[in-house]
Amino acid sequence: MLDLAIIGGGPAGLTAGLYATRGGLENVVMYEKGMPGGAITQSSEVENYPGIKEVVTGMDLMAAWPEQCMRFGLKHEMVEVVRVSRPEGLCFQVELGDGTSVTAKSVIVATGGTPRKAGFKGEEEFFGRGVSTCATCDGFFYRDKEVAVIGGGDTALEEALYLANICSKVYIVHRRNEFRAAPSTVRRVEENEKIELVTDVVVEEVYGDAMGVQGLKVKRKSDGEEIDLPVPGVFVFVGYDVNNGVLKQENGSFLCDVNEWGEVVVDLAMKTSEEGLFAAGDVRIMAPKQVVCAAGDGANAAIGAIAYVEHLKRENLC
Ligand code: FAD
Ligand code: NAP
Repeated sequence: MLDLAIIGGGPAGLTAGLYATRGGLENVVMYEKGMPGGAITQSSEVENYPGIKEVVTGMDLMAAWPEQCMRFGLKHEMVEVVRVSRPEGLCFQVELGDGTSVTAKSVIVATGGTPRKAGFKGEEEFFGRGVSTCATCDGFFYRDKEVAVIGGGDTALEEALYLANICSKVYIVHRRNEFRAAPSTVRRVEENEKIELVTDVVVEEVYGDAMGVQGLKVKRKSDGEEIDLPVPGVFVFVGYDVNNGVLKQENGSFLCDVNEWGEVVVDLAMKTSEEGLFAAGDVRIMAPKQVVCAAGDGANAAIGAIAYVEHLKRENLC
């Protein structure tokens, strides 16, 4: 029986592992289906992690994290978790992709999320070289430059407003004339002098060279007009999938409360509605989707898990 199972080995899962093992939990296993490090390892430039003065790649930023955790006894199993359930009593059952399962006294879910791709030409090729899905991460690289935002939902419009504080101009490129975003947000966008709306268009391609993106070509649906936006940065916000699949039960319900967008509901201590089950990082409600925040969540969740497991042991439960 594990004291703690951690699902996901990004900044949240790794930090949870560090705090849980240093805090005295035994038999702590982090289940990460790939190499530990998480989504940030896709980034070629990180300059907002406190204490790191240089611009570093995500790979370099995360390189020392696993080793630091393993030093205190964290174990990593490179396997996908299929489901976390609580069939009976207080113990959790963690079902693994290889068909086996383990029991655990407590669980921290730190599985992150995945921004959706829009599917236009050049999106993959220039990802991380001008195409981004994170304004907080990359907006500053385009300070006083023009950028385009693709999408018409709340995220696209809110991020466009954020970028308008940094960039000289923001084009919002949307496939319809109407926006899905809240009317109050649409109004703020329309009133912002730095934002120009380019609507009723299909994105044809993002183009550039070895140095990165040079522009975006779109075509107006109504009259076929081709429009060239010579921007060095393109931000894509066309939806986001929260990686909450491990919490889905056989009957389709979730093990704990999730909100209408599938984000795991937690309190300020990262506790979910299910006692002993915690969520940390990008998978939780209102996640700022930043490495420093995910790491903080992981520490917070681990401190809660330690207290919970101590309680079980004291009371001879589970
Ligand atoms: P993740 O890092 O997403 O880690 C989740 C892990 O869980 C993954 O490794 C995944 O393989 C694993 N996993 C998922 N499901 C399962 C399962 N069923 N079984 C086993 N393992 C599973 N943030 C910044 O602060 N600054 C930046 O400059 C910055 N730039 C970014 C650039 C890019 C290109 C990207 C993609 C993100 C960037 N971010 C940046 C955001 C940052 O990467 C995330 O906020 C952070 O990684 C979230 O950490 P997490 O641990 O919650 O989730
Ligand atoms: P979303 O609401 O699903 O919006 C996605 C947008 O991208 C839509 O405008 C959609 O166009 C467009 N789109 C989708 N696929 C595309 C493609 N392949 N090419 C071009 N455009 C494409 O996603 P979201 O903005 O990430 O929001 C997700 C949920 O979180 C929503 O329910 C939202 O309300 C919520 N949210 C709320 C807040 C808030 O309350 N402050 C903030 C952020 C997010 P169409 O409109 O034509 O479909």
